[in-house]
Amino acid sequence: MAHVKLHIPGPIEVSEKTFKAFCSPMIGHRGQGFKDLYAKIQPQLQQLLYTKQLVYISTSSAWGVMEGAIRNLVSKKVLNCMCGAFSDKWFDVAKRCGKDAEALQVAWGSPIRAEAVDKKLATGQFDALTVIHNETSTGVMSPIAEIAALKKKYPDVMFIVDTVSSMTAVKLEFDALSIDVMIAGTQKAFALPPGTAIFTCSKAALAKAATMKDRGYYFDFVEFQKNAEQSMTPSTPSIGHVYALASKLEDIFAEGLEARYARHRKTNQMTRDWAAKHGFTLFPDKGFESLTLTCVNNGAKPGGRAAVDVPKLQKLVKDQGFLIDGGYGKIKGTTFRVSNMGDETEATMSQLFAAMDKAMAQL
Ligand SMILES: *Cc1c(COP(=O)(O)O)cnc(C)c1O
Repeated sequence: MAHVKLHIPGPIEVSEKTFKAFCSPMIGHRGQGFKDLYAKIQPQLQQLLYTKQLVYISTSSAWGVMEGAIRNLVSKKVLNCMCGAFSDKWFDVAKRCGKDAEALQVAWGSPIRAEAVDKKLATGQFDALTVIHNETSTGVMSPIAEIAALKKKYPDVMFIVDTVSSMTAVKLEFDALSIDVMIAGTQKAFALPPGTAIFTCSKAALAKAATMKDRGYYFDFVEFQKNAEQSMTPSTPSIGHVYALASKLEDIFAEGLEARYARHRKTNQMTRDWAAKHGFTLFPDKGFESLTLTCVNNGAKPGGRAAVDVPKLQKLVKDQGFLIDGGYGKIKGTTFRVSNMGDETEATMSQLFAAMDKAMAQL
């Protein structure tokens, strides 16, 4: 069967080179070969996350570490900043972990702003907060620098940040932001297969985790640190992913970080231009649109066509070899999403838009 190219916001397209690396012959995870492999990529990971802290590799999807962060760092009460399906879910996850949690909910489409977070933290009730930098369900990118600046005012509050669908595509300087945890899954902007998460922790987060009694084992941040110091992981990792990551890091640094960020800005702008050309507006509040995916409002074109049949649009695009997303959760069908994460270039995005143009004409 012909492969349908993924333009959904994760998992995304994985290159042949990455797959080849993924299929490297197996090695033992306690042997020198693995230690050398992890030690080789550690400085690149640190450069990618702009940190001097060790970067960890977790064999889980992002949710494993997102739940782990709650278990490692919340003793008093967590403030869950909610602006879409993933950030809303984190509140539910915190409660399922038996934690005292409070929602800071804004309307889907709006970002999280520092002022609202500040008001909540000022109550002194919280020792942690969760925030999602790039809400993949709504295509909203919250101003993370503005939120992270609050850390100075609340040094004892653990700032847990999900950068699952933005890490590698947008500059995120972990140390300079002075946040406590930054998490990503490999099937989003990393363009690796799903099944691994990349994260790092501040010294303060590691110190806090060490005091927590019920932090479990598999996602124990102290175990990740102890093992990473020896270029190992707490348990047997997906070794294929580590090979694939090493290969992808070669690609990332061959392109250059600034060039990579610029490419994502460009391909994202092309997506916005495509939407505008067809008379669509974007779902996010103006100025807070994601740079890695575009969440398009399925509305009528003023003085033109009616709203579109999103499943039909998807099918017409799919018949031409591309998969776009039909909207997430409660905005399924009233929005649709197109990803420009990973290896996409102006040329490859142009091919997608040509197929989408054709589909629009056939609707
Ligand atoms: C995809 C995604 C997640 C969940 O990732 P899993 O790999 O399914 O665990 C969490 N947060 C954001 C912002 C995401 O895009």
